[in-house]
Amino acid sequence: MAVNLKAELLVDGGMHALLPSRCLLCGARGERGLDVCAGCRAELPYNACCCARCALPLETPAPLCGRCIRRAPPWDAAWAPFRYAYPLDRLEARFKFTGDLAAGRLLSKLWIKTQAPGELPQAIIPVPLHRSRLRSRGYNQALELAKPLAKALRIPLLRDALQRTRVTAAQTELTALARRRNVRGAFAAHFVNEIPQHVAVLDDVFTTGATLAECARVLKRAGAKRVDVWALARAPGRA
Ligand SMILES: [Zn+2]
Ligand SMILES: [Zn+2]
Repeated sequence: MAVNLKAELLVDGGMHALLPSRCLLCGARGERGLDVCAGCRAELPYNACCCARCALPLETPAPLCGRCIRRAPPWDAAWAPFRYAYPLDRLEARFKFTGDLAAGRLLSKLWIKTQAPGELPQAIIPVPLHRSRLRSRGYNQALELAKPLAKALRIPLLRDALQRTRVTAAQTELTALARRRNVRGAFAAHFVNEIPQHVAVLDDVFTTGATLAECARVLKRAGAKRVDVWALARAPGRA
């Protein structure tokens, strides 16, 4: 009992670094201060071979996927360093749906350790949640991932530049067409100062891109010249 209490006090006191790190996936000892072991880290699905425009995983290297060649998306470039696959999907689901903020911290640390794009934006804008969903979840998963990344890359984070003006149905259950309709007109841009020329809009998972596309359109209408889309993970197979 006394030992547990002491351990809790250490964590609450921000002294987590003094405790040995544990792999959040298998419970083995963490590696290099990360809450993931060497074995699980080696299994992470890096999105190395992908479309430069939409980050869709590709079987063989090519500059663009077929879909982007046929019709260019409303954003300019994409960065999604991981594929949405095992075991990263387990961490993301825990972070997003069960309030596991330690999983979120690990995911942002892993993201920071990947190779950033050569041409960085002047600001990062997280995809917002509607305030009713923010109230029930308690945090915006996109913002939580964006905060450490913005700090590491030394890029300003404009957390309120996009707002969700109406409640939308959860995208997960919808077809691609229904997703586009679901988010149409759901966002508004607010800039206190002049909008930066080059911005990146950031979400946790890029699935069909409907939400990111709508955000990119809104930011371009607000005056952004270049909008990149950033996501921790890209769902393969569905563009
Ligand atoms: Zn492990
Ligand atoms: Zn593409």
